[in-house]
Amino acid sequence: MNSHPEGGRLLLVDDDLMIRMLAAESLRHAGFDVREADCGEEALRLFNEEDFDLMLLDVMMPGIDGYQVCEQIRQHAKGAWLPILMLTGLNDTDSIERAYACGATDFVTKPINWLLLTHRVRYGLRSSRAVEGVTRSQRSLAQAQRLARIGSWEWSVRDSRFTCSDELQRMFGGALLAACRSPAVFLGRVQANDRAAVETARRALLDEGTPYQVTYGMQRLDGSVIEVFEEAVAVADASGRIVKIEGFTQDITERVEAQRRIQHLALHDALTGLANRQFFSEMVSVELQRARRTGSTCAILHLDIDHFKSVNDALGDATGDRLLCALAERLHASVRAADLLALSPPMRAAEMVARIDGDAFTVLVLEVRLASHAAMIADRLLHSVALPFLFDGREIVLTASIGISVFPRDGETVEALWRHAEQAMYAAKAAGPSTYRFFDEDMNTAASAKLQLESELRRGISSGELRLHFQPKIDTRSGRMIGAEALVRWQHPQRGLLAPGQFIPLAEESGLIVGLGEWVARATAEQLRAWADAGLQPVRVSINLASPSFQQDDIAGKLYAMVKGVGIRPEQIVVELTESLLMANAERTIAVLCALRDKGFGLSLDDFGTGYSSLGYLKRFPIDELKIDRSFVTDVTNGGKDAAIAMSIIELGNQFGMRVVAEGVETREQAAFLLRHRCPIQQGFLFSRPLPAKEFAALLAQNDRLFEPDLLSGTANGLLLHP
Ligand code: C2E
Ligand code: CA
Ligand code: CA
Repeated sequence: MNSHPEGGRLLLVDDDLMIRMLAAESLRHAGFDVREADCGEEALRLFNEEDFDLMLLDVMMPGIDGYQVCEQIRQHAKGAWLPILMLTGLNDTDSIERAYACGATDFVTKPINWLLLTHRVRYGLRSSRAVEGVTRSQRSLAQAQRLARIGSWEWSVRDSRFTCSDELQRMFGGALLAACRSPAVFLGRVQANDRAAVETARRALLDEGTPYQVTYGMQRLDGSVIEVFEEAVAVADASGRIVKIEGFTQDITERVEAQRRIQHLALHDALTGLANRQFFSEMVSVELQRARRTGSTCAILHLDIDHFKSVNDALGDATGDRLLCALAERLHASVRAADLLALSPPMRAAEMVARIDGDAFTVLVLEVRLASHAAMIADRLLHSVALPFLFDGREIVLTASIGISVFPRDGETVEALWRHAEQAMYAAKAAGPSTYRFFDEDMNTAASAKLQLESELRRGISSGELRLHFQPKIDTRSGRMIGAEALVRWQHPQRGLLAPGQFIPLAEESGLIVGLGEWVARATAEQLRAWADAGLQPVRVSINLASPSFQQDDIAGKLYAMVKGVGIRPEQIVVELTESLLMANAERTIAVLCALRDKGFGLSLDDFGTGYSSLGYLKRFPIDELKIDRSFVTDVTNGGKDAAIAMSIIELGNQFGMRVVAEGVETREQAAFLLRHRCPIQQGFLFSRPLPAKEFAALLAQNDRLFEPDLLSGTANGLLLHP
């Protein structure tokens, strides 16, 4: 808009020459610069070519009339704010209304009062300039807000009306702002850490009028998080009642991110990106507090690279740095191994590796239930260090020494644990390369005995020291064998035949269980094949599958390929699983179970009643057989609580169409009770102990009653065919 020194530039439009002359004369006299047009067309031409501060426009004209001119001007960007005074006939309310409808600012009635006209024009100009000023300052405010990323807003208490600046809209997005009218939705979007502070601040403002300043993170609809600083005050009316809240909100995302980066730099080692000494120590204090509360045990491993200084000197600092980075990565990866996280509760060492000095690293291991767990991790770390590094075609082999201190046994504080782990590390260094040592001597002994057994078992599995025994499952109605269970034994060269209880837990801890499971499955299949080849009546044989075996990728496919390779049918094998294994990851478990069943394997739920015993979930799993745990069977004839549980398990299994097997049946009373309560399939010493393959083959060959059913009716005298 053009501003004129003498008060403004006017465009006067009227087809009546007389009116035009008089009006122009009086306006010029009052100091205005006046241009004249005698028709609508001429008015539009002048409007387009020149700039005016105000327009006086006659309504009635030949050609384009005043209404049309006004409408067209309003559609122009530069005409949007131009004050237009329409000249209308006196008391012609219709034309006055129409004039406003077309966008006129005001009207002047004819005949024109010349003195008044100049006042109306002056007033029109003044108010339009005021509007222009406000608009301009609003625009520059918006501009300032955009630059500072500040949005202002207002919330009226009376009608909950929320108004805000464009910048606030831009920051949060209009849809989010709309959704956030509901305080619950708003708070739900505030990051969990900040929620309480925001809620408290807003409450205090609304209830007591206390102004607030808070910073908080808020999740946008697209999932991104915006960090903001917000300040708000309450506005009260004369009676002191709060009527509205005024606030502004500033987007400080970039600043917060920069702070986070700085913080990360302060807490992490710049070379390897691992936690640094300070961070590690803070983390450990927090974890120790938790461990104290929950009574759990954790361990600190202090790992030091052997002779790193001479390696560094030989290779140069740059290669030395690369080596440390590669090391850091390996250490990090080896404590994040899936099998550690799969333990329940997971042994959480993840994120807990720190570099505390040039070539010294520490690891915090949580939820250490056994000393051997910490030893296992130490062993892993030592192995990962000892793998050759390849740098620029050169092979570099490093070794490390590890000291271990265990909370609370070796110290109550971070410092004490740290010191003791370091001391133990020196003992490890003295003992030789790639060695770990506990601070506590007893633990060293226990761990080394365990390690010894573990290496023996590893060797035993591969060199054929495992044996299978078979225990029949009997149908007590007919006395015939309807299946068997394969149970593993270890023929130890010095210690003799070991029961599974003496080595299965170790195999599970050390990861050897997977190899052991594979051996059992294959040996069972080969045995079945051998019996079939010998012309013996085939029975279904169960194998016990431990959790790590079951968790393998495509276990169903692997078992199937093995069975086919040996030349038997999958239907001859039943897989026994435990409840806890099933509960670990129900969705995946169901998929694996279905895959096994689709391939033809039978599925049995072992030790039922000892685990979660949530009968409801049973329905979800495609299980053929339930095995009532021995502990219930032992007590059935005592008539106590266990008898009731056994009965309800039988009832439930039958209802779900599963075969129910009672295991650990030792007495006729137990067998009779179970048979009476509709559990005829039984397994236990009463019928036969687990037997070596050869003896078991003799049972198969007999192909006859293994047990006299009449015994259970109490008439016969208890003669067993196989004691
Ligand atoms: P389980 O699967 O519950 O096996 C049944 C256990 O009960 C066997 O012990 C068996 O000898 C014993 N038993 C059978 N009848 C009676 C009885 O009347 N009285 C008593 N007191 N015990 C009876 P075993 O062979 O010592 O096996 C113990 C556990 O070791 C098994 O319990 C199973 O969890 C595990 N196990 C055995 N073989 C394997 C295997 O090949 N792989 C895996 N992963 N675990 C196995
Ligand atoms: Ca079993
Ligand atoms: Ca069992």
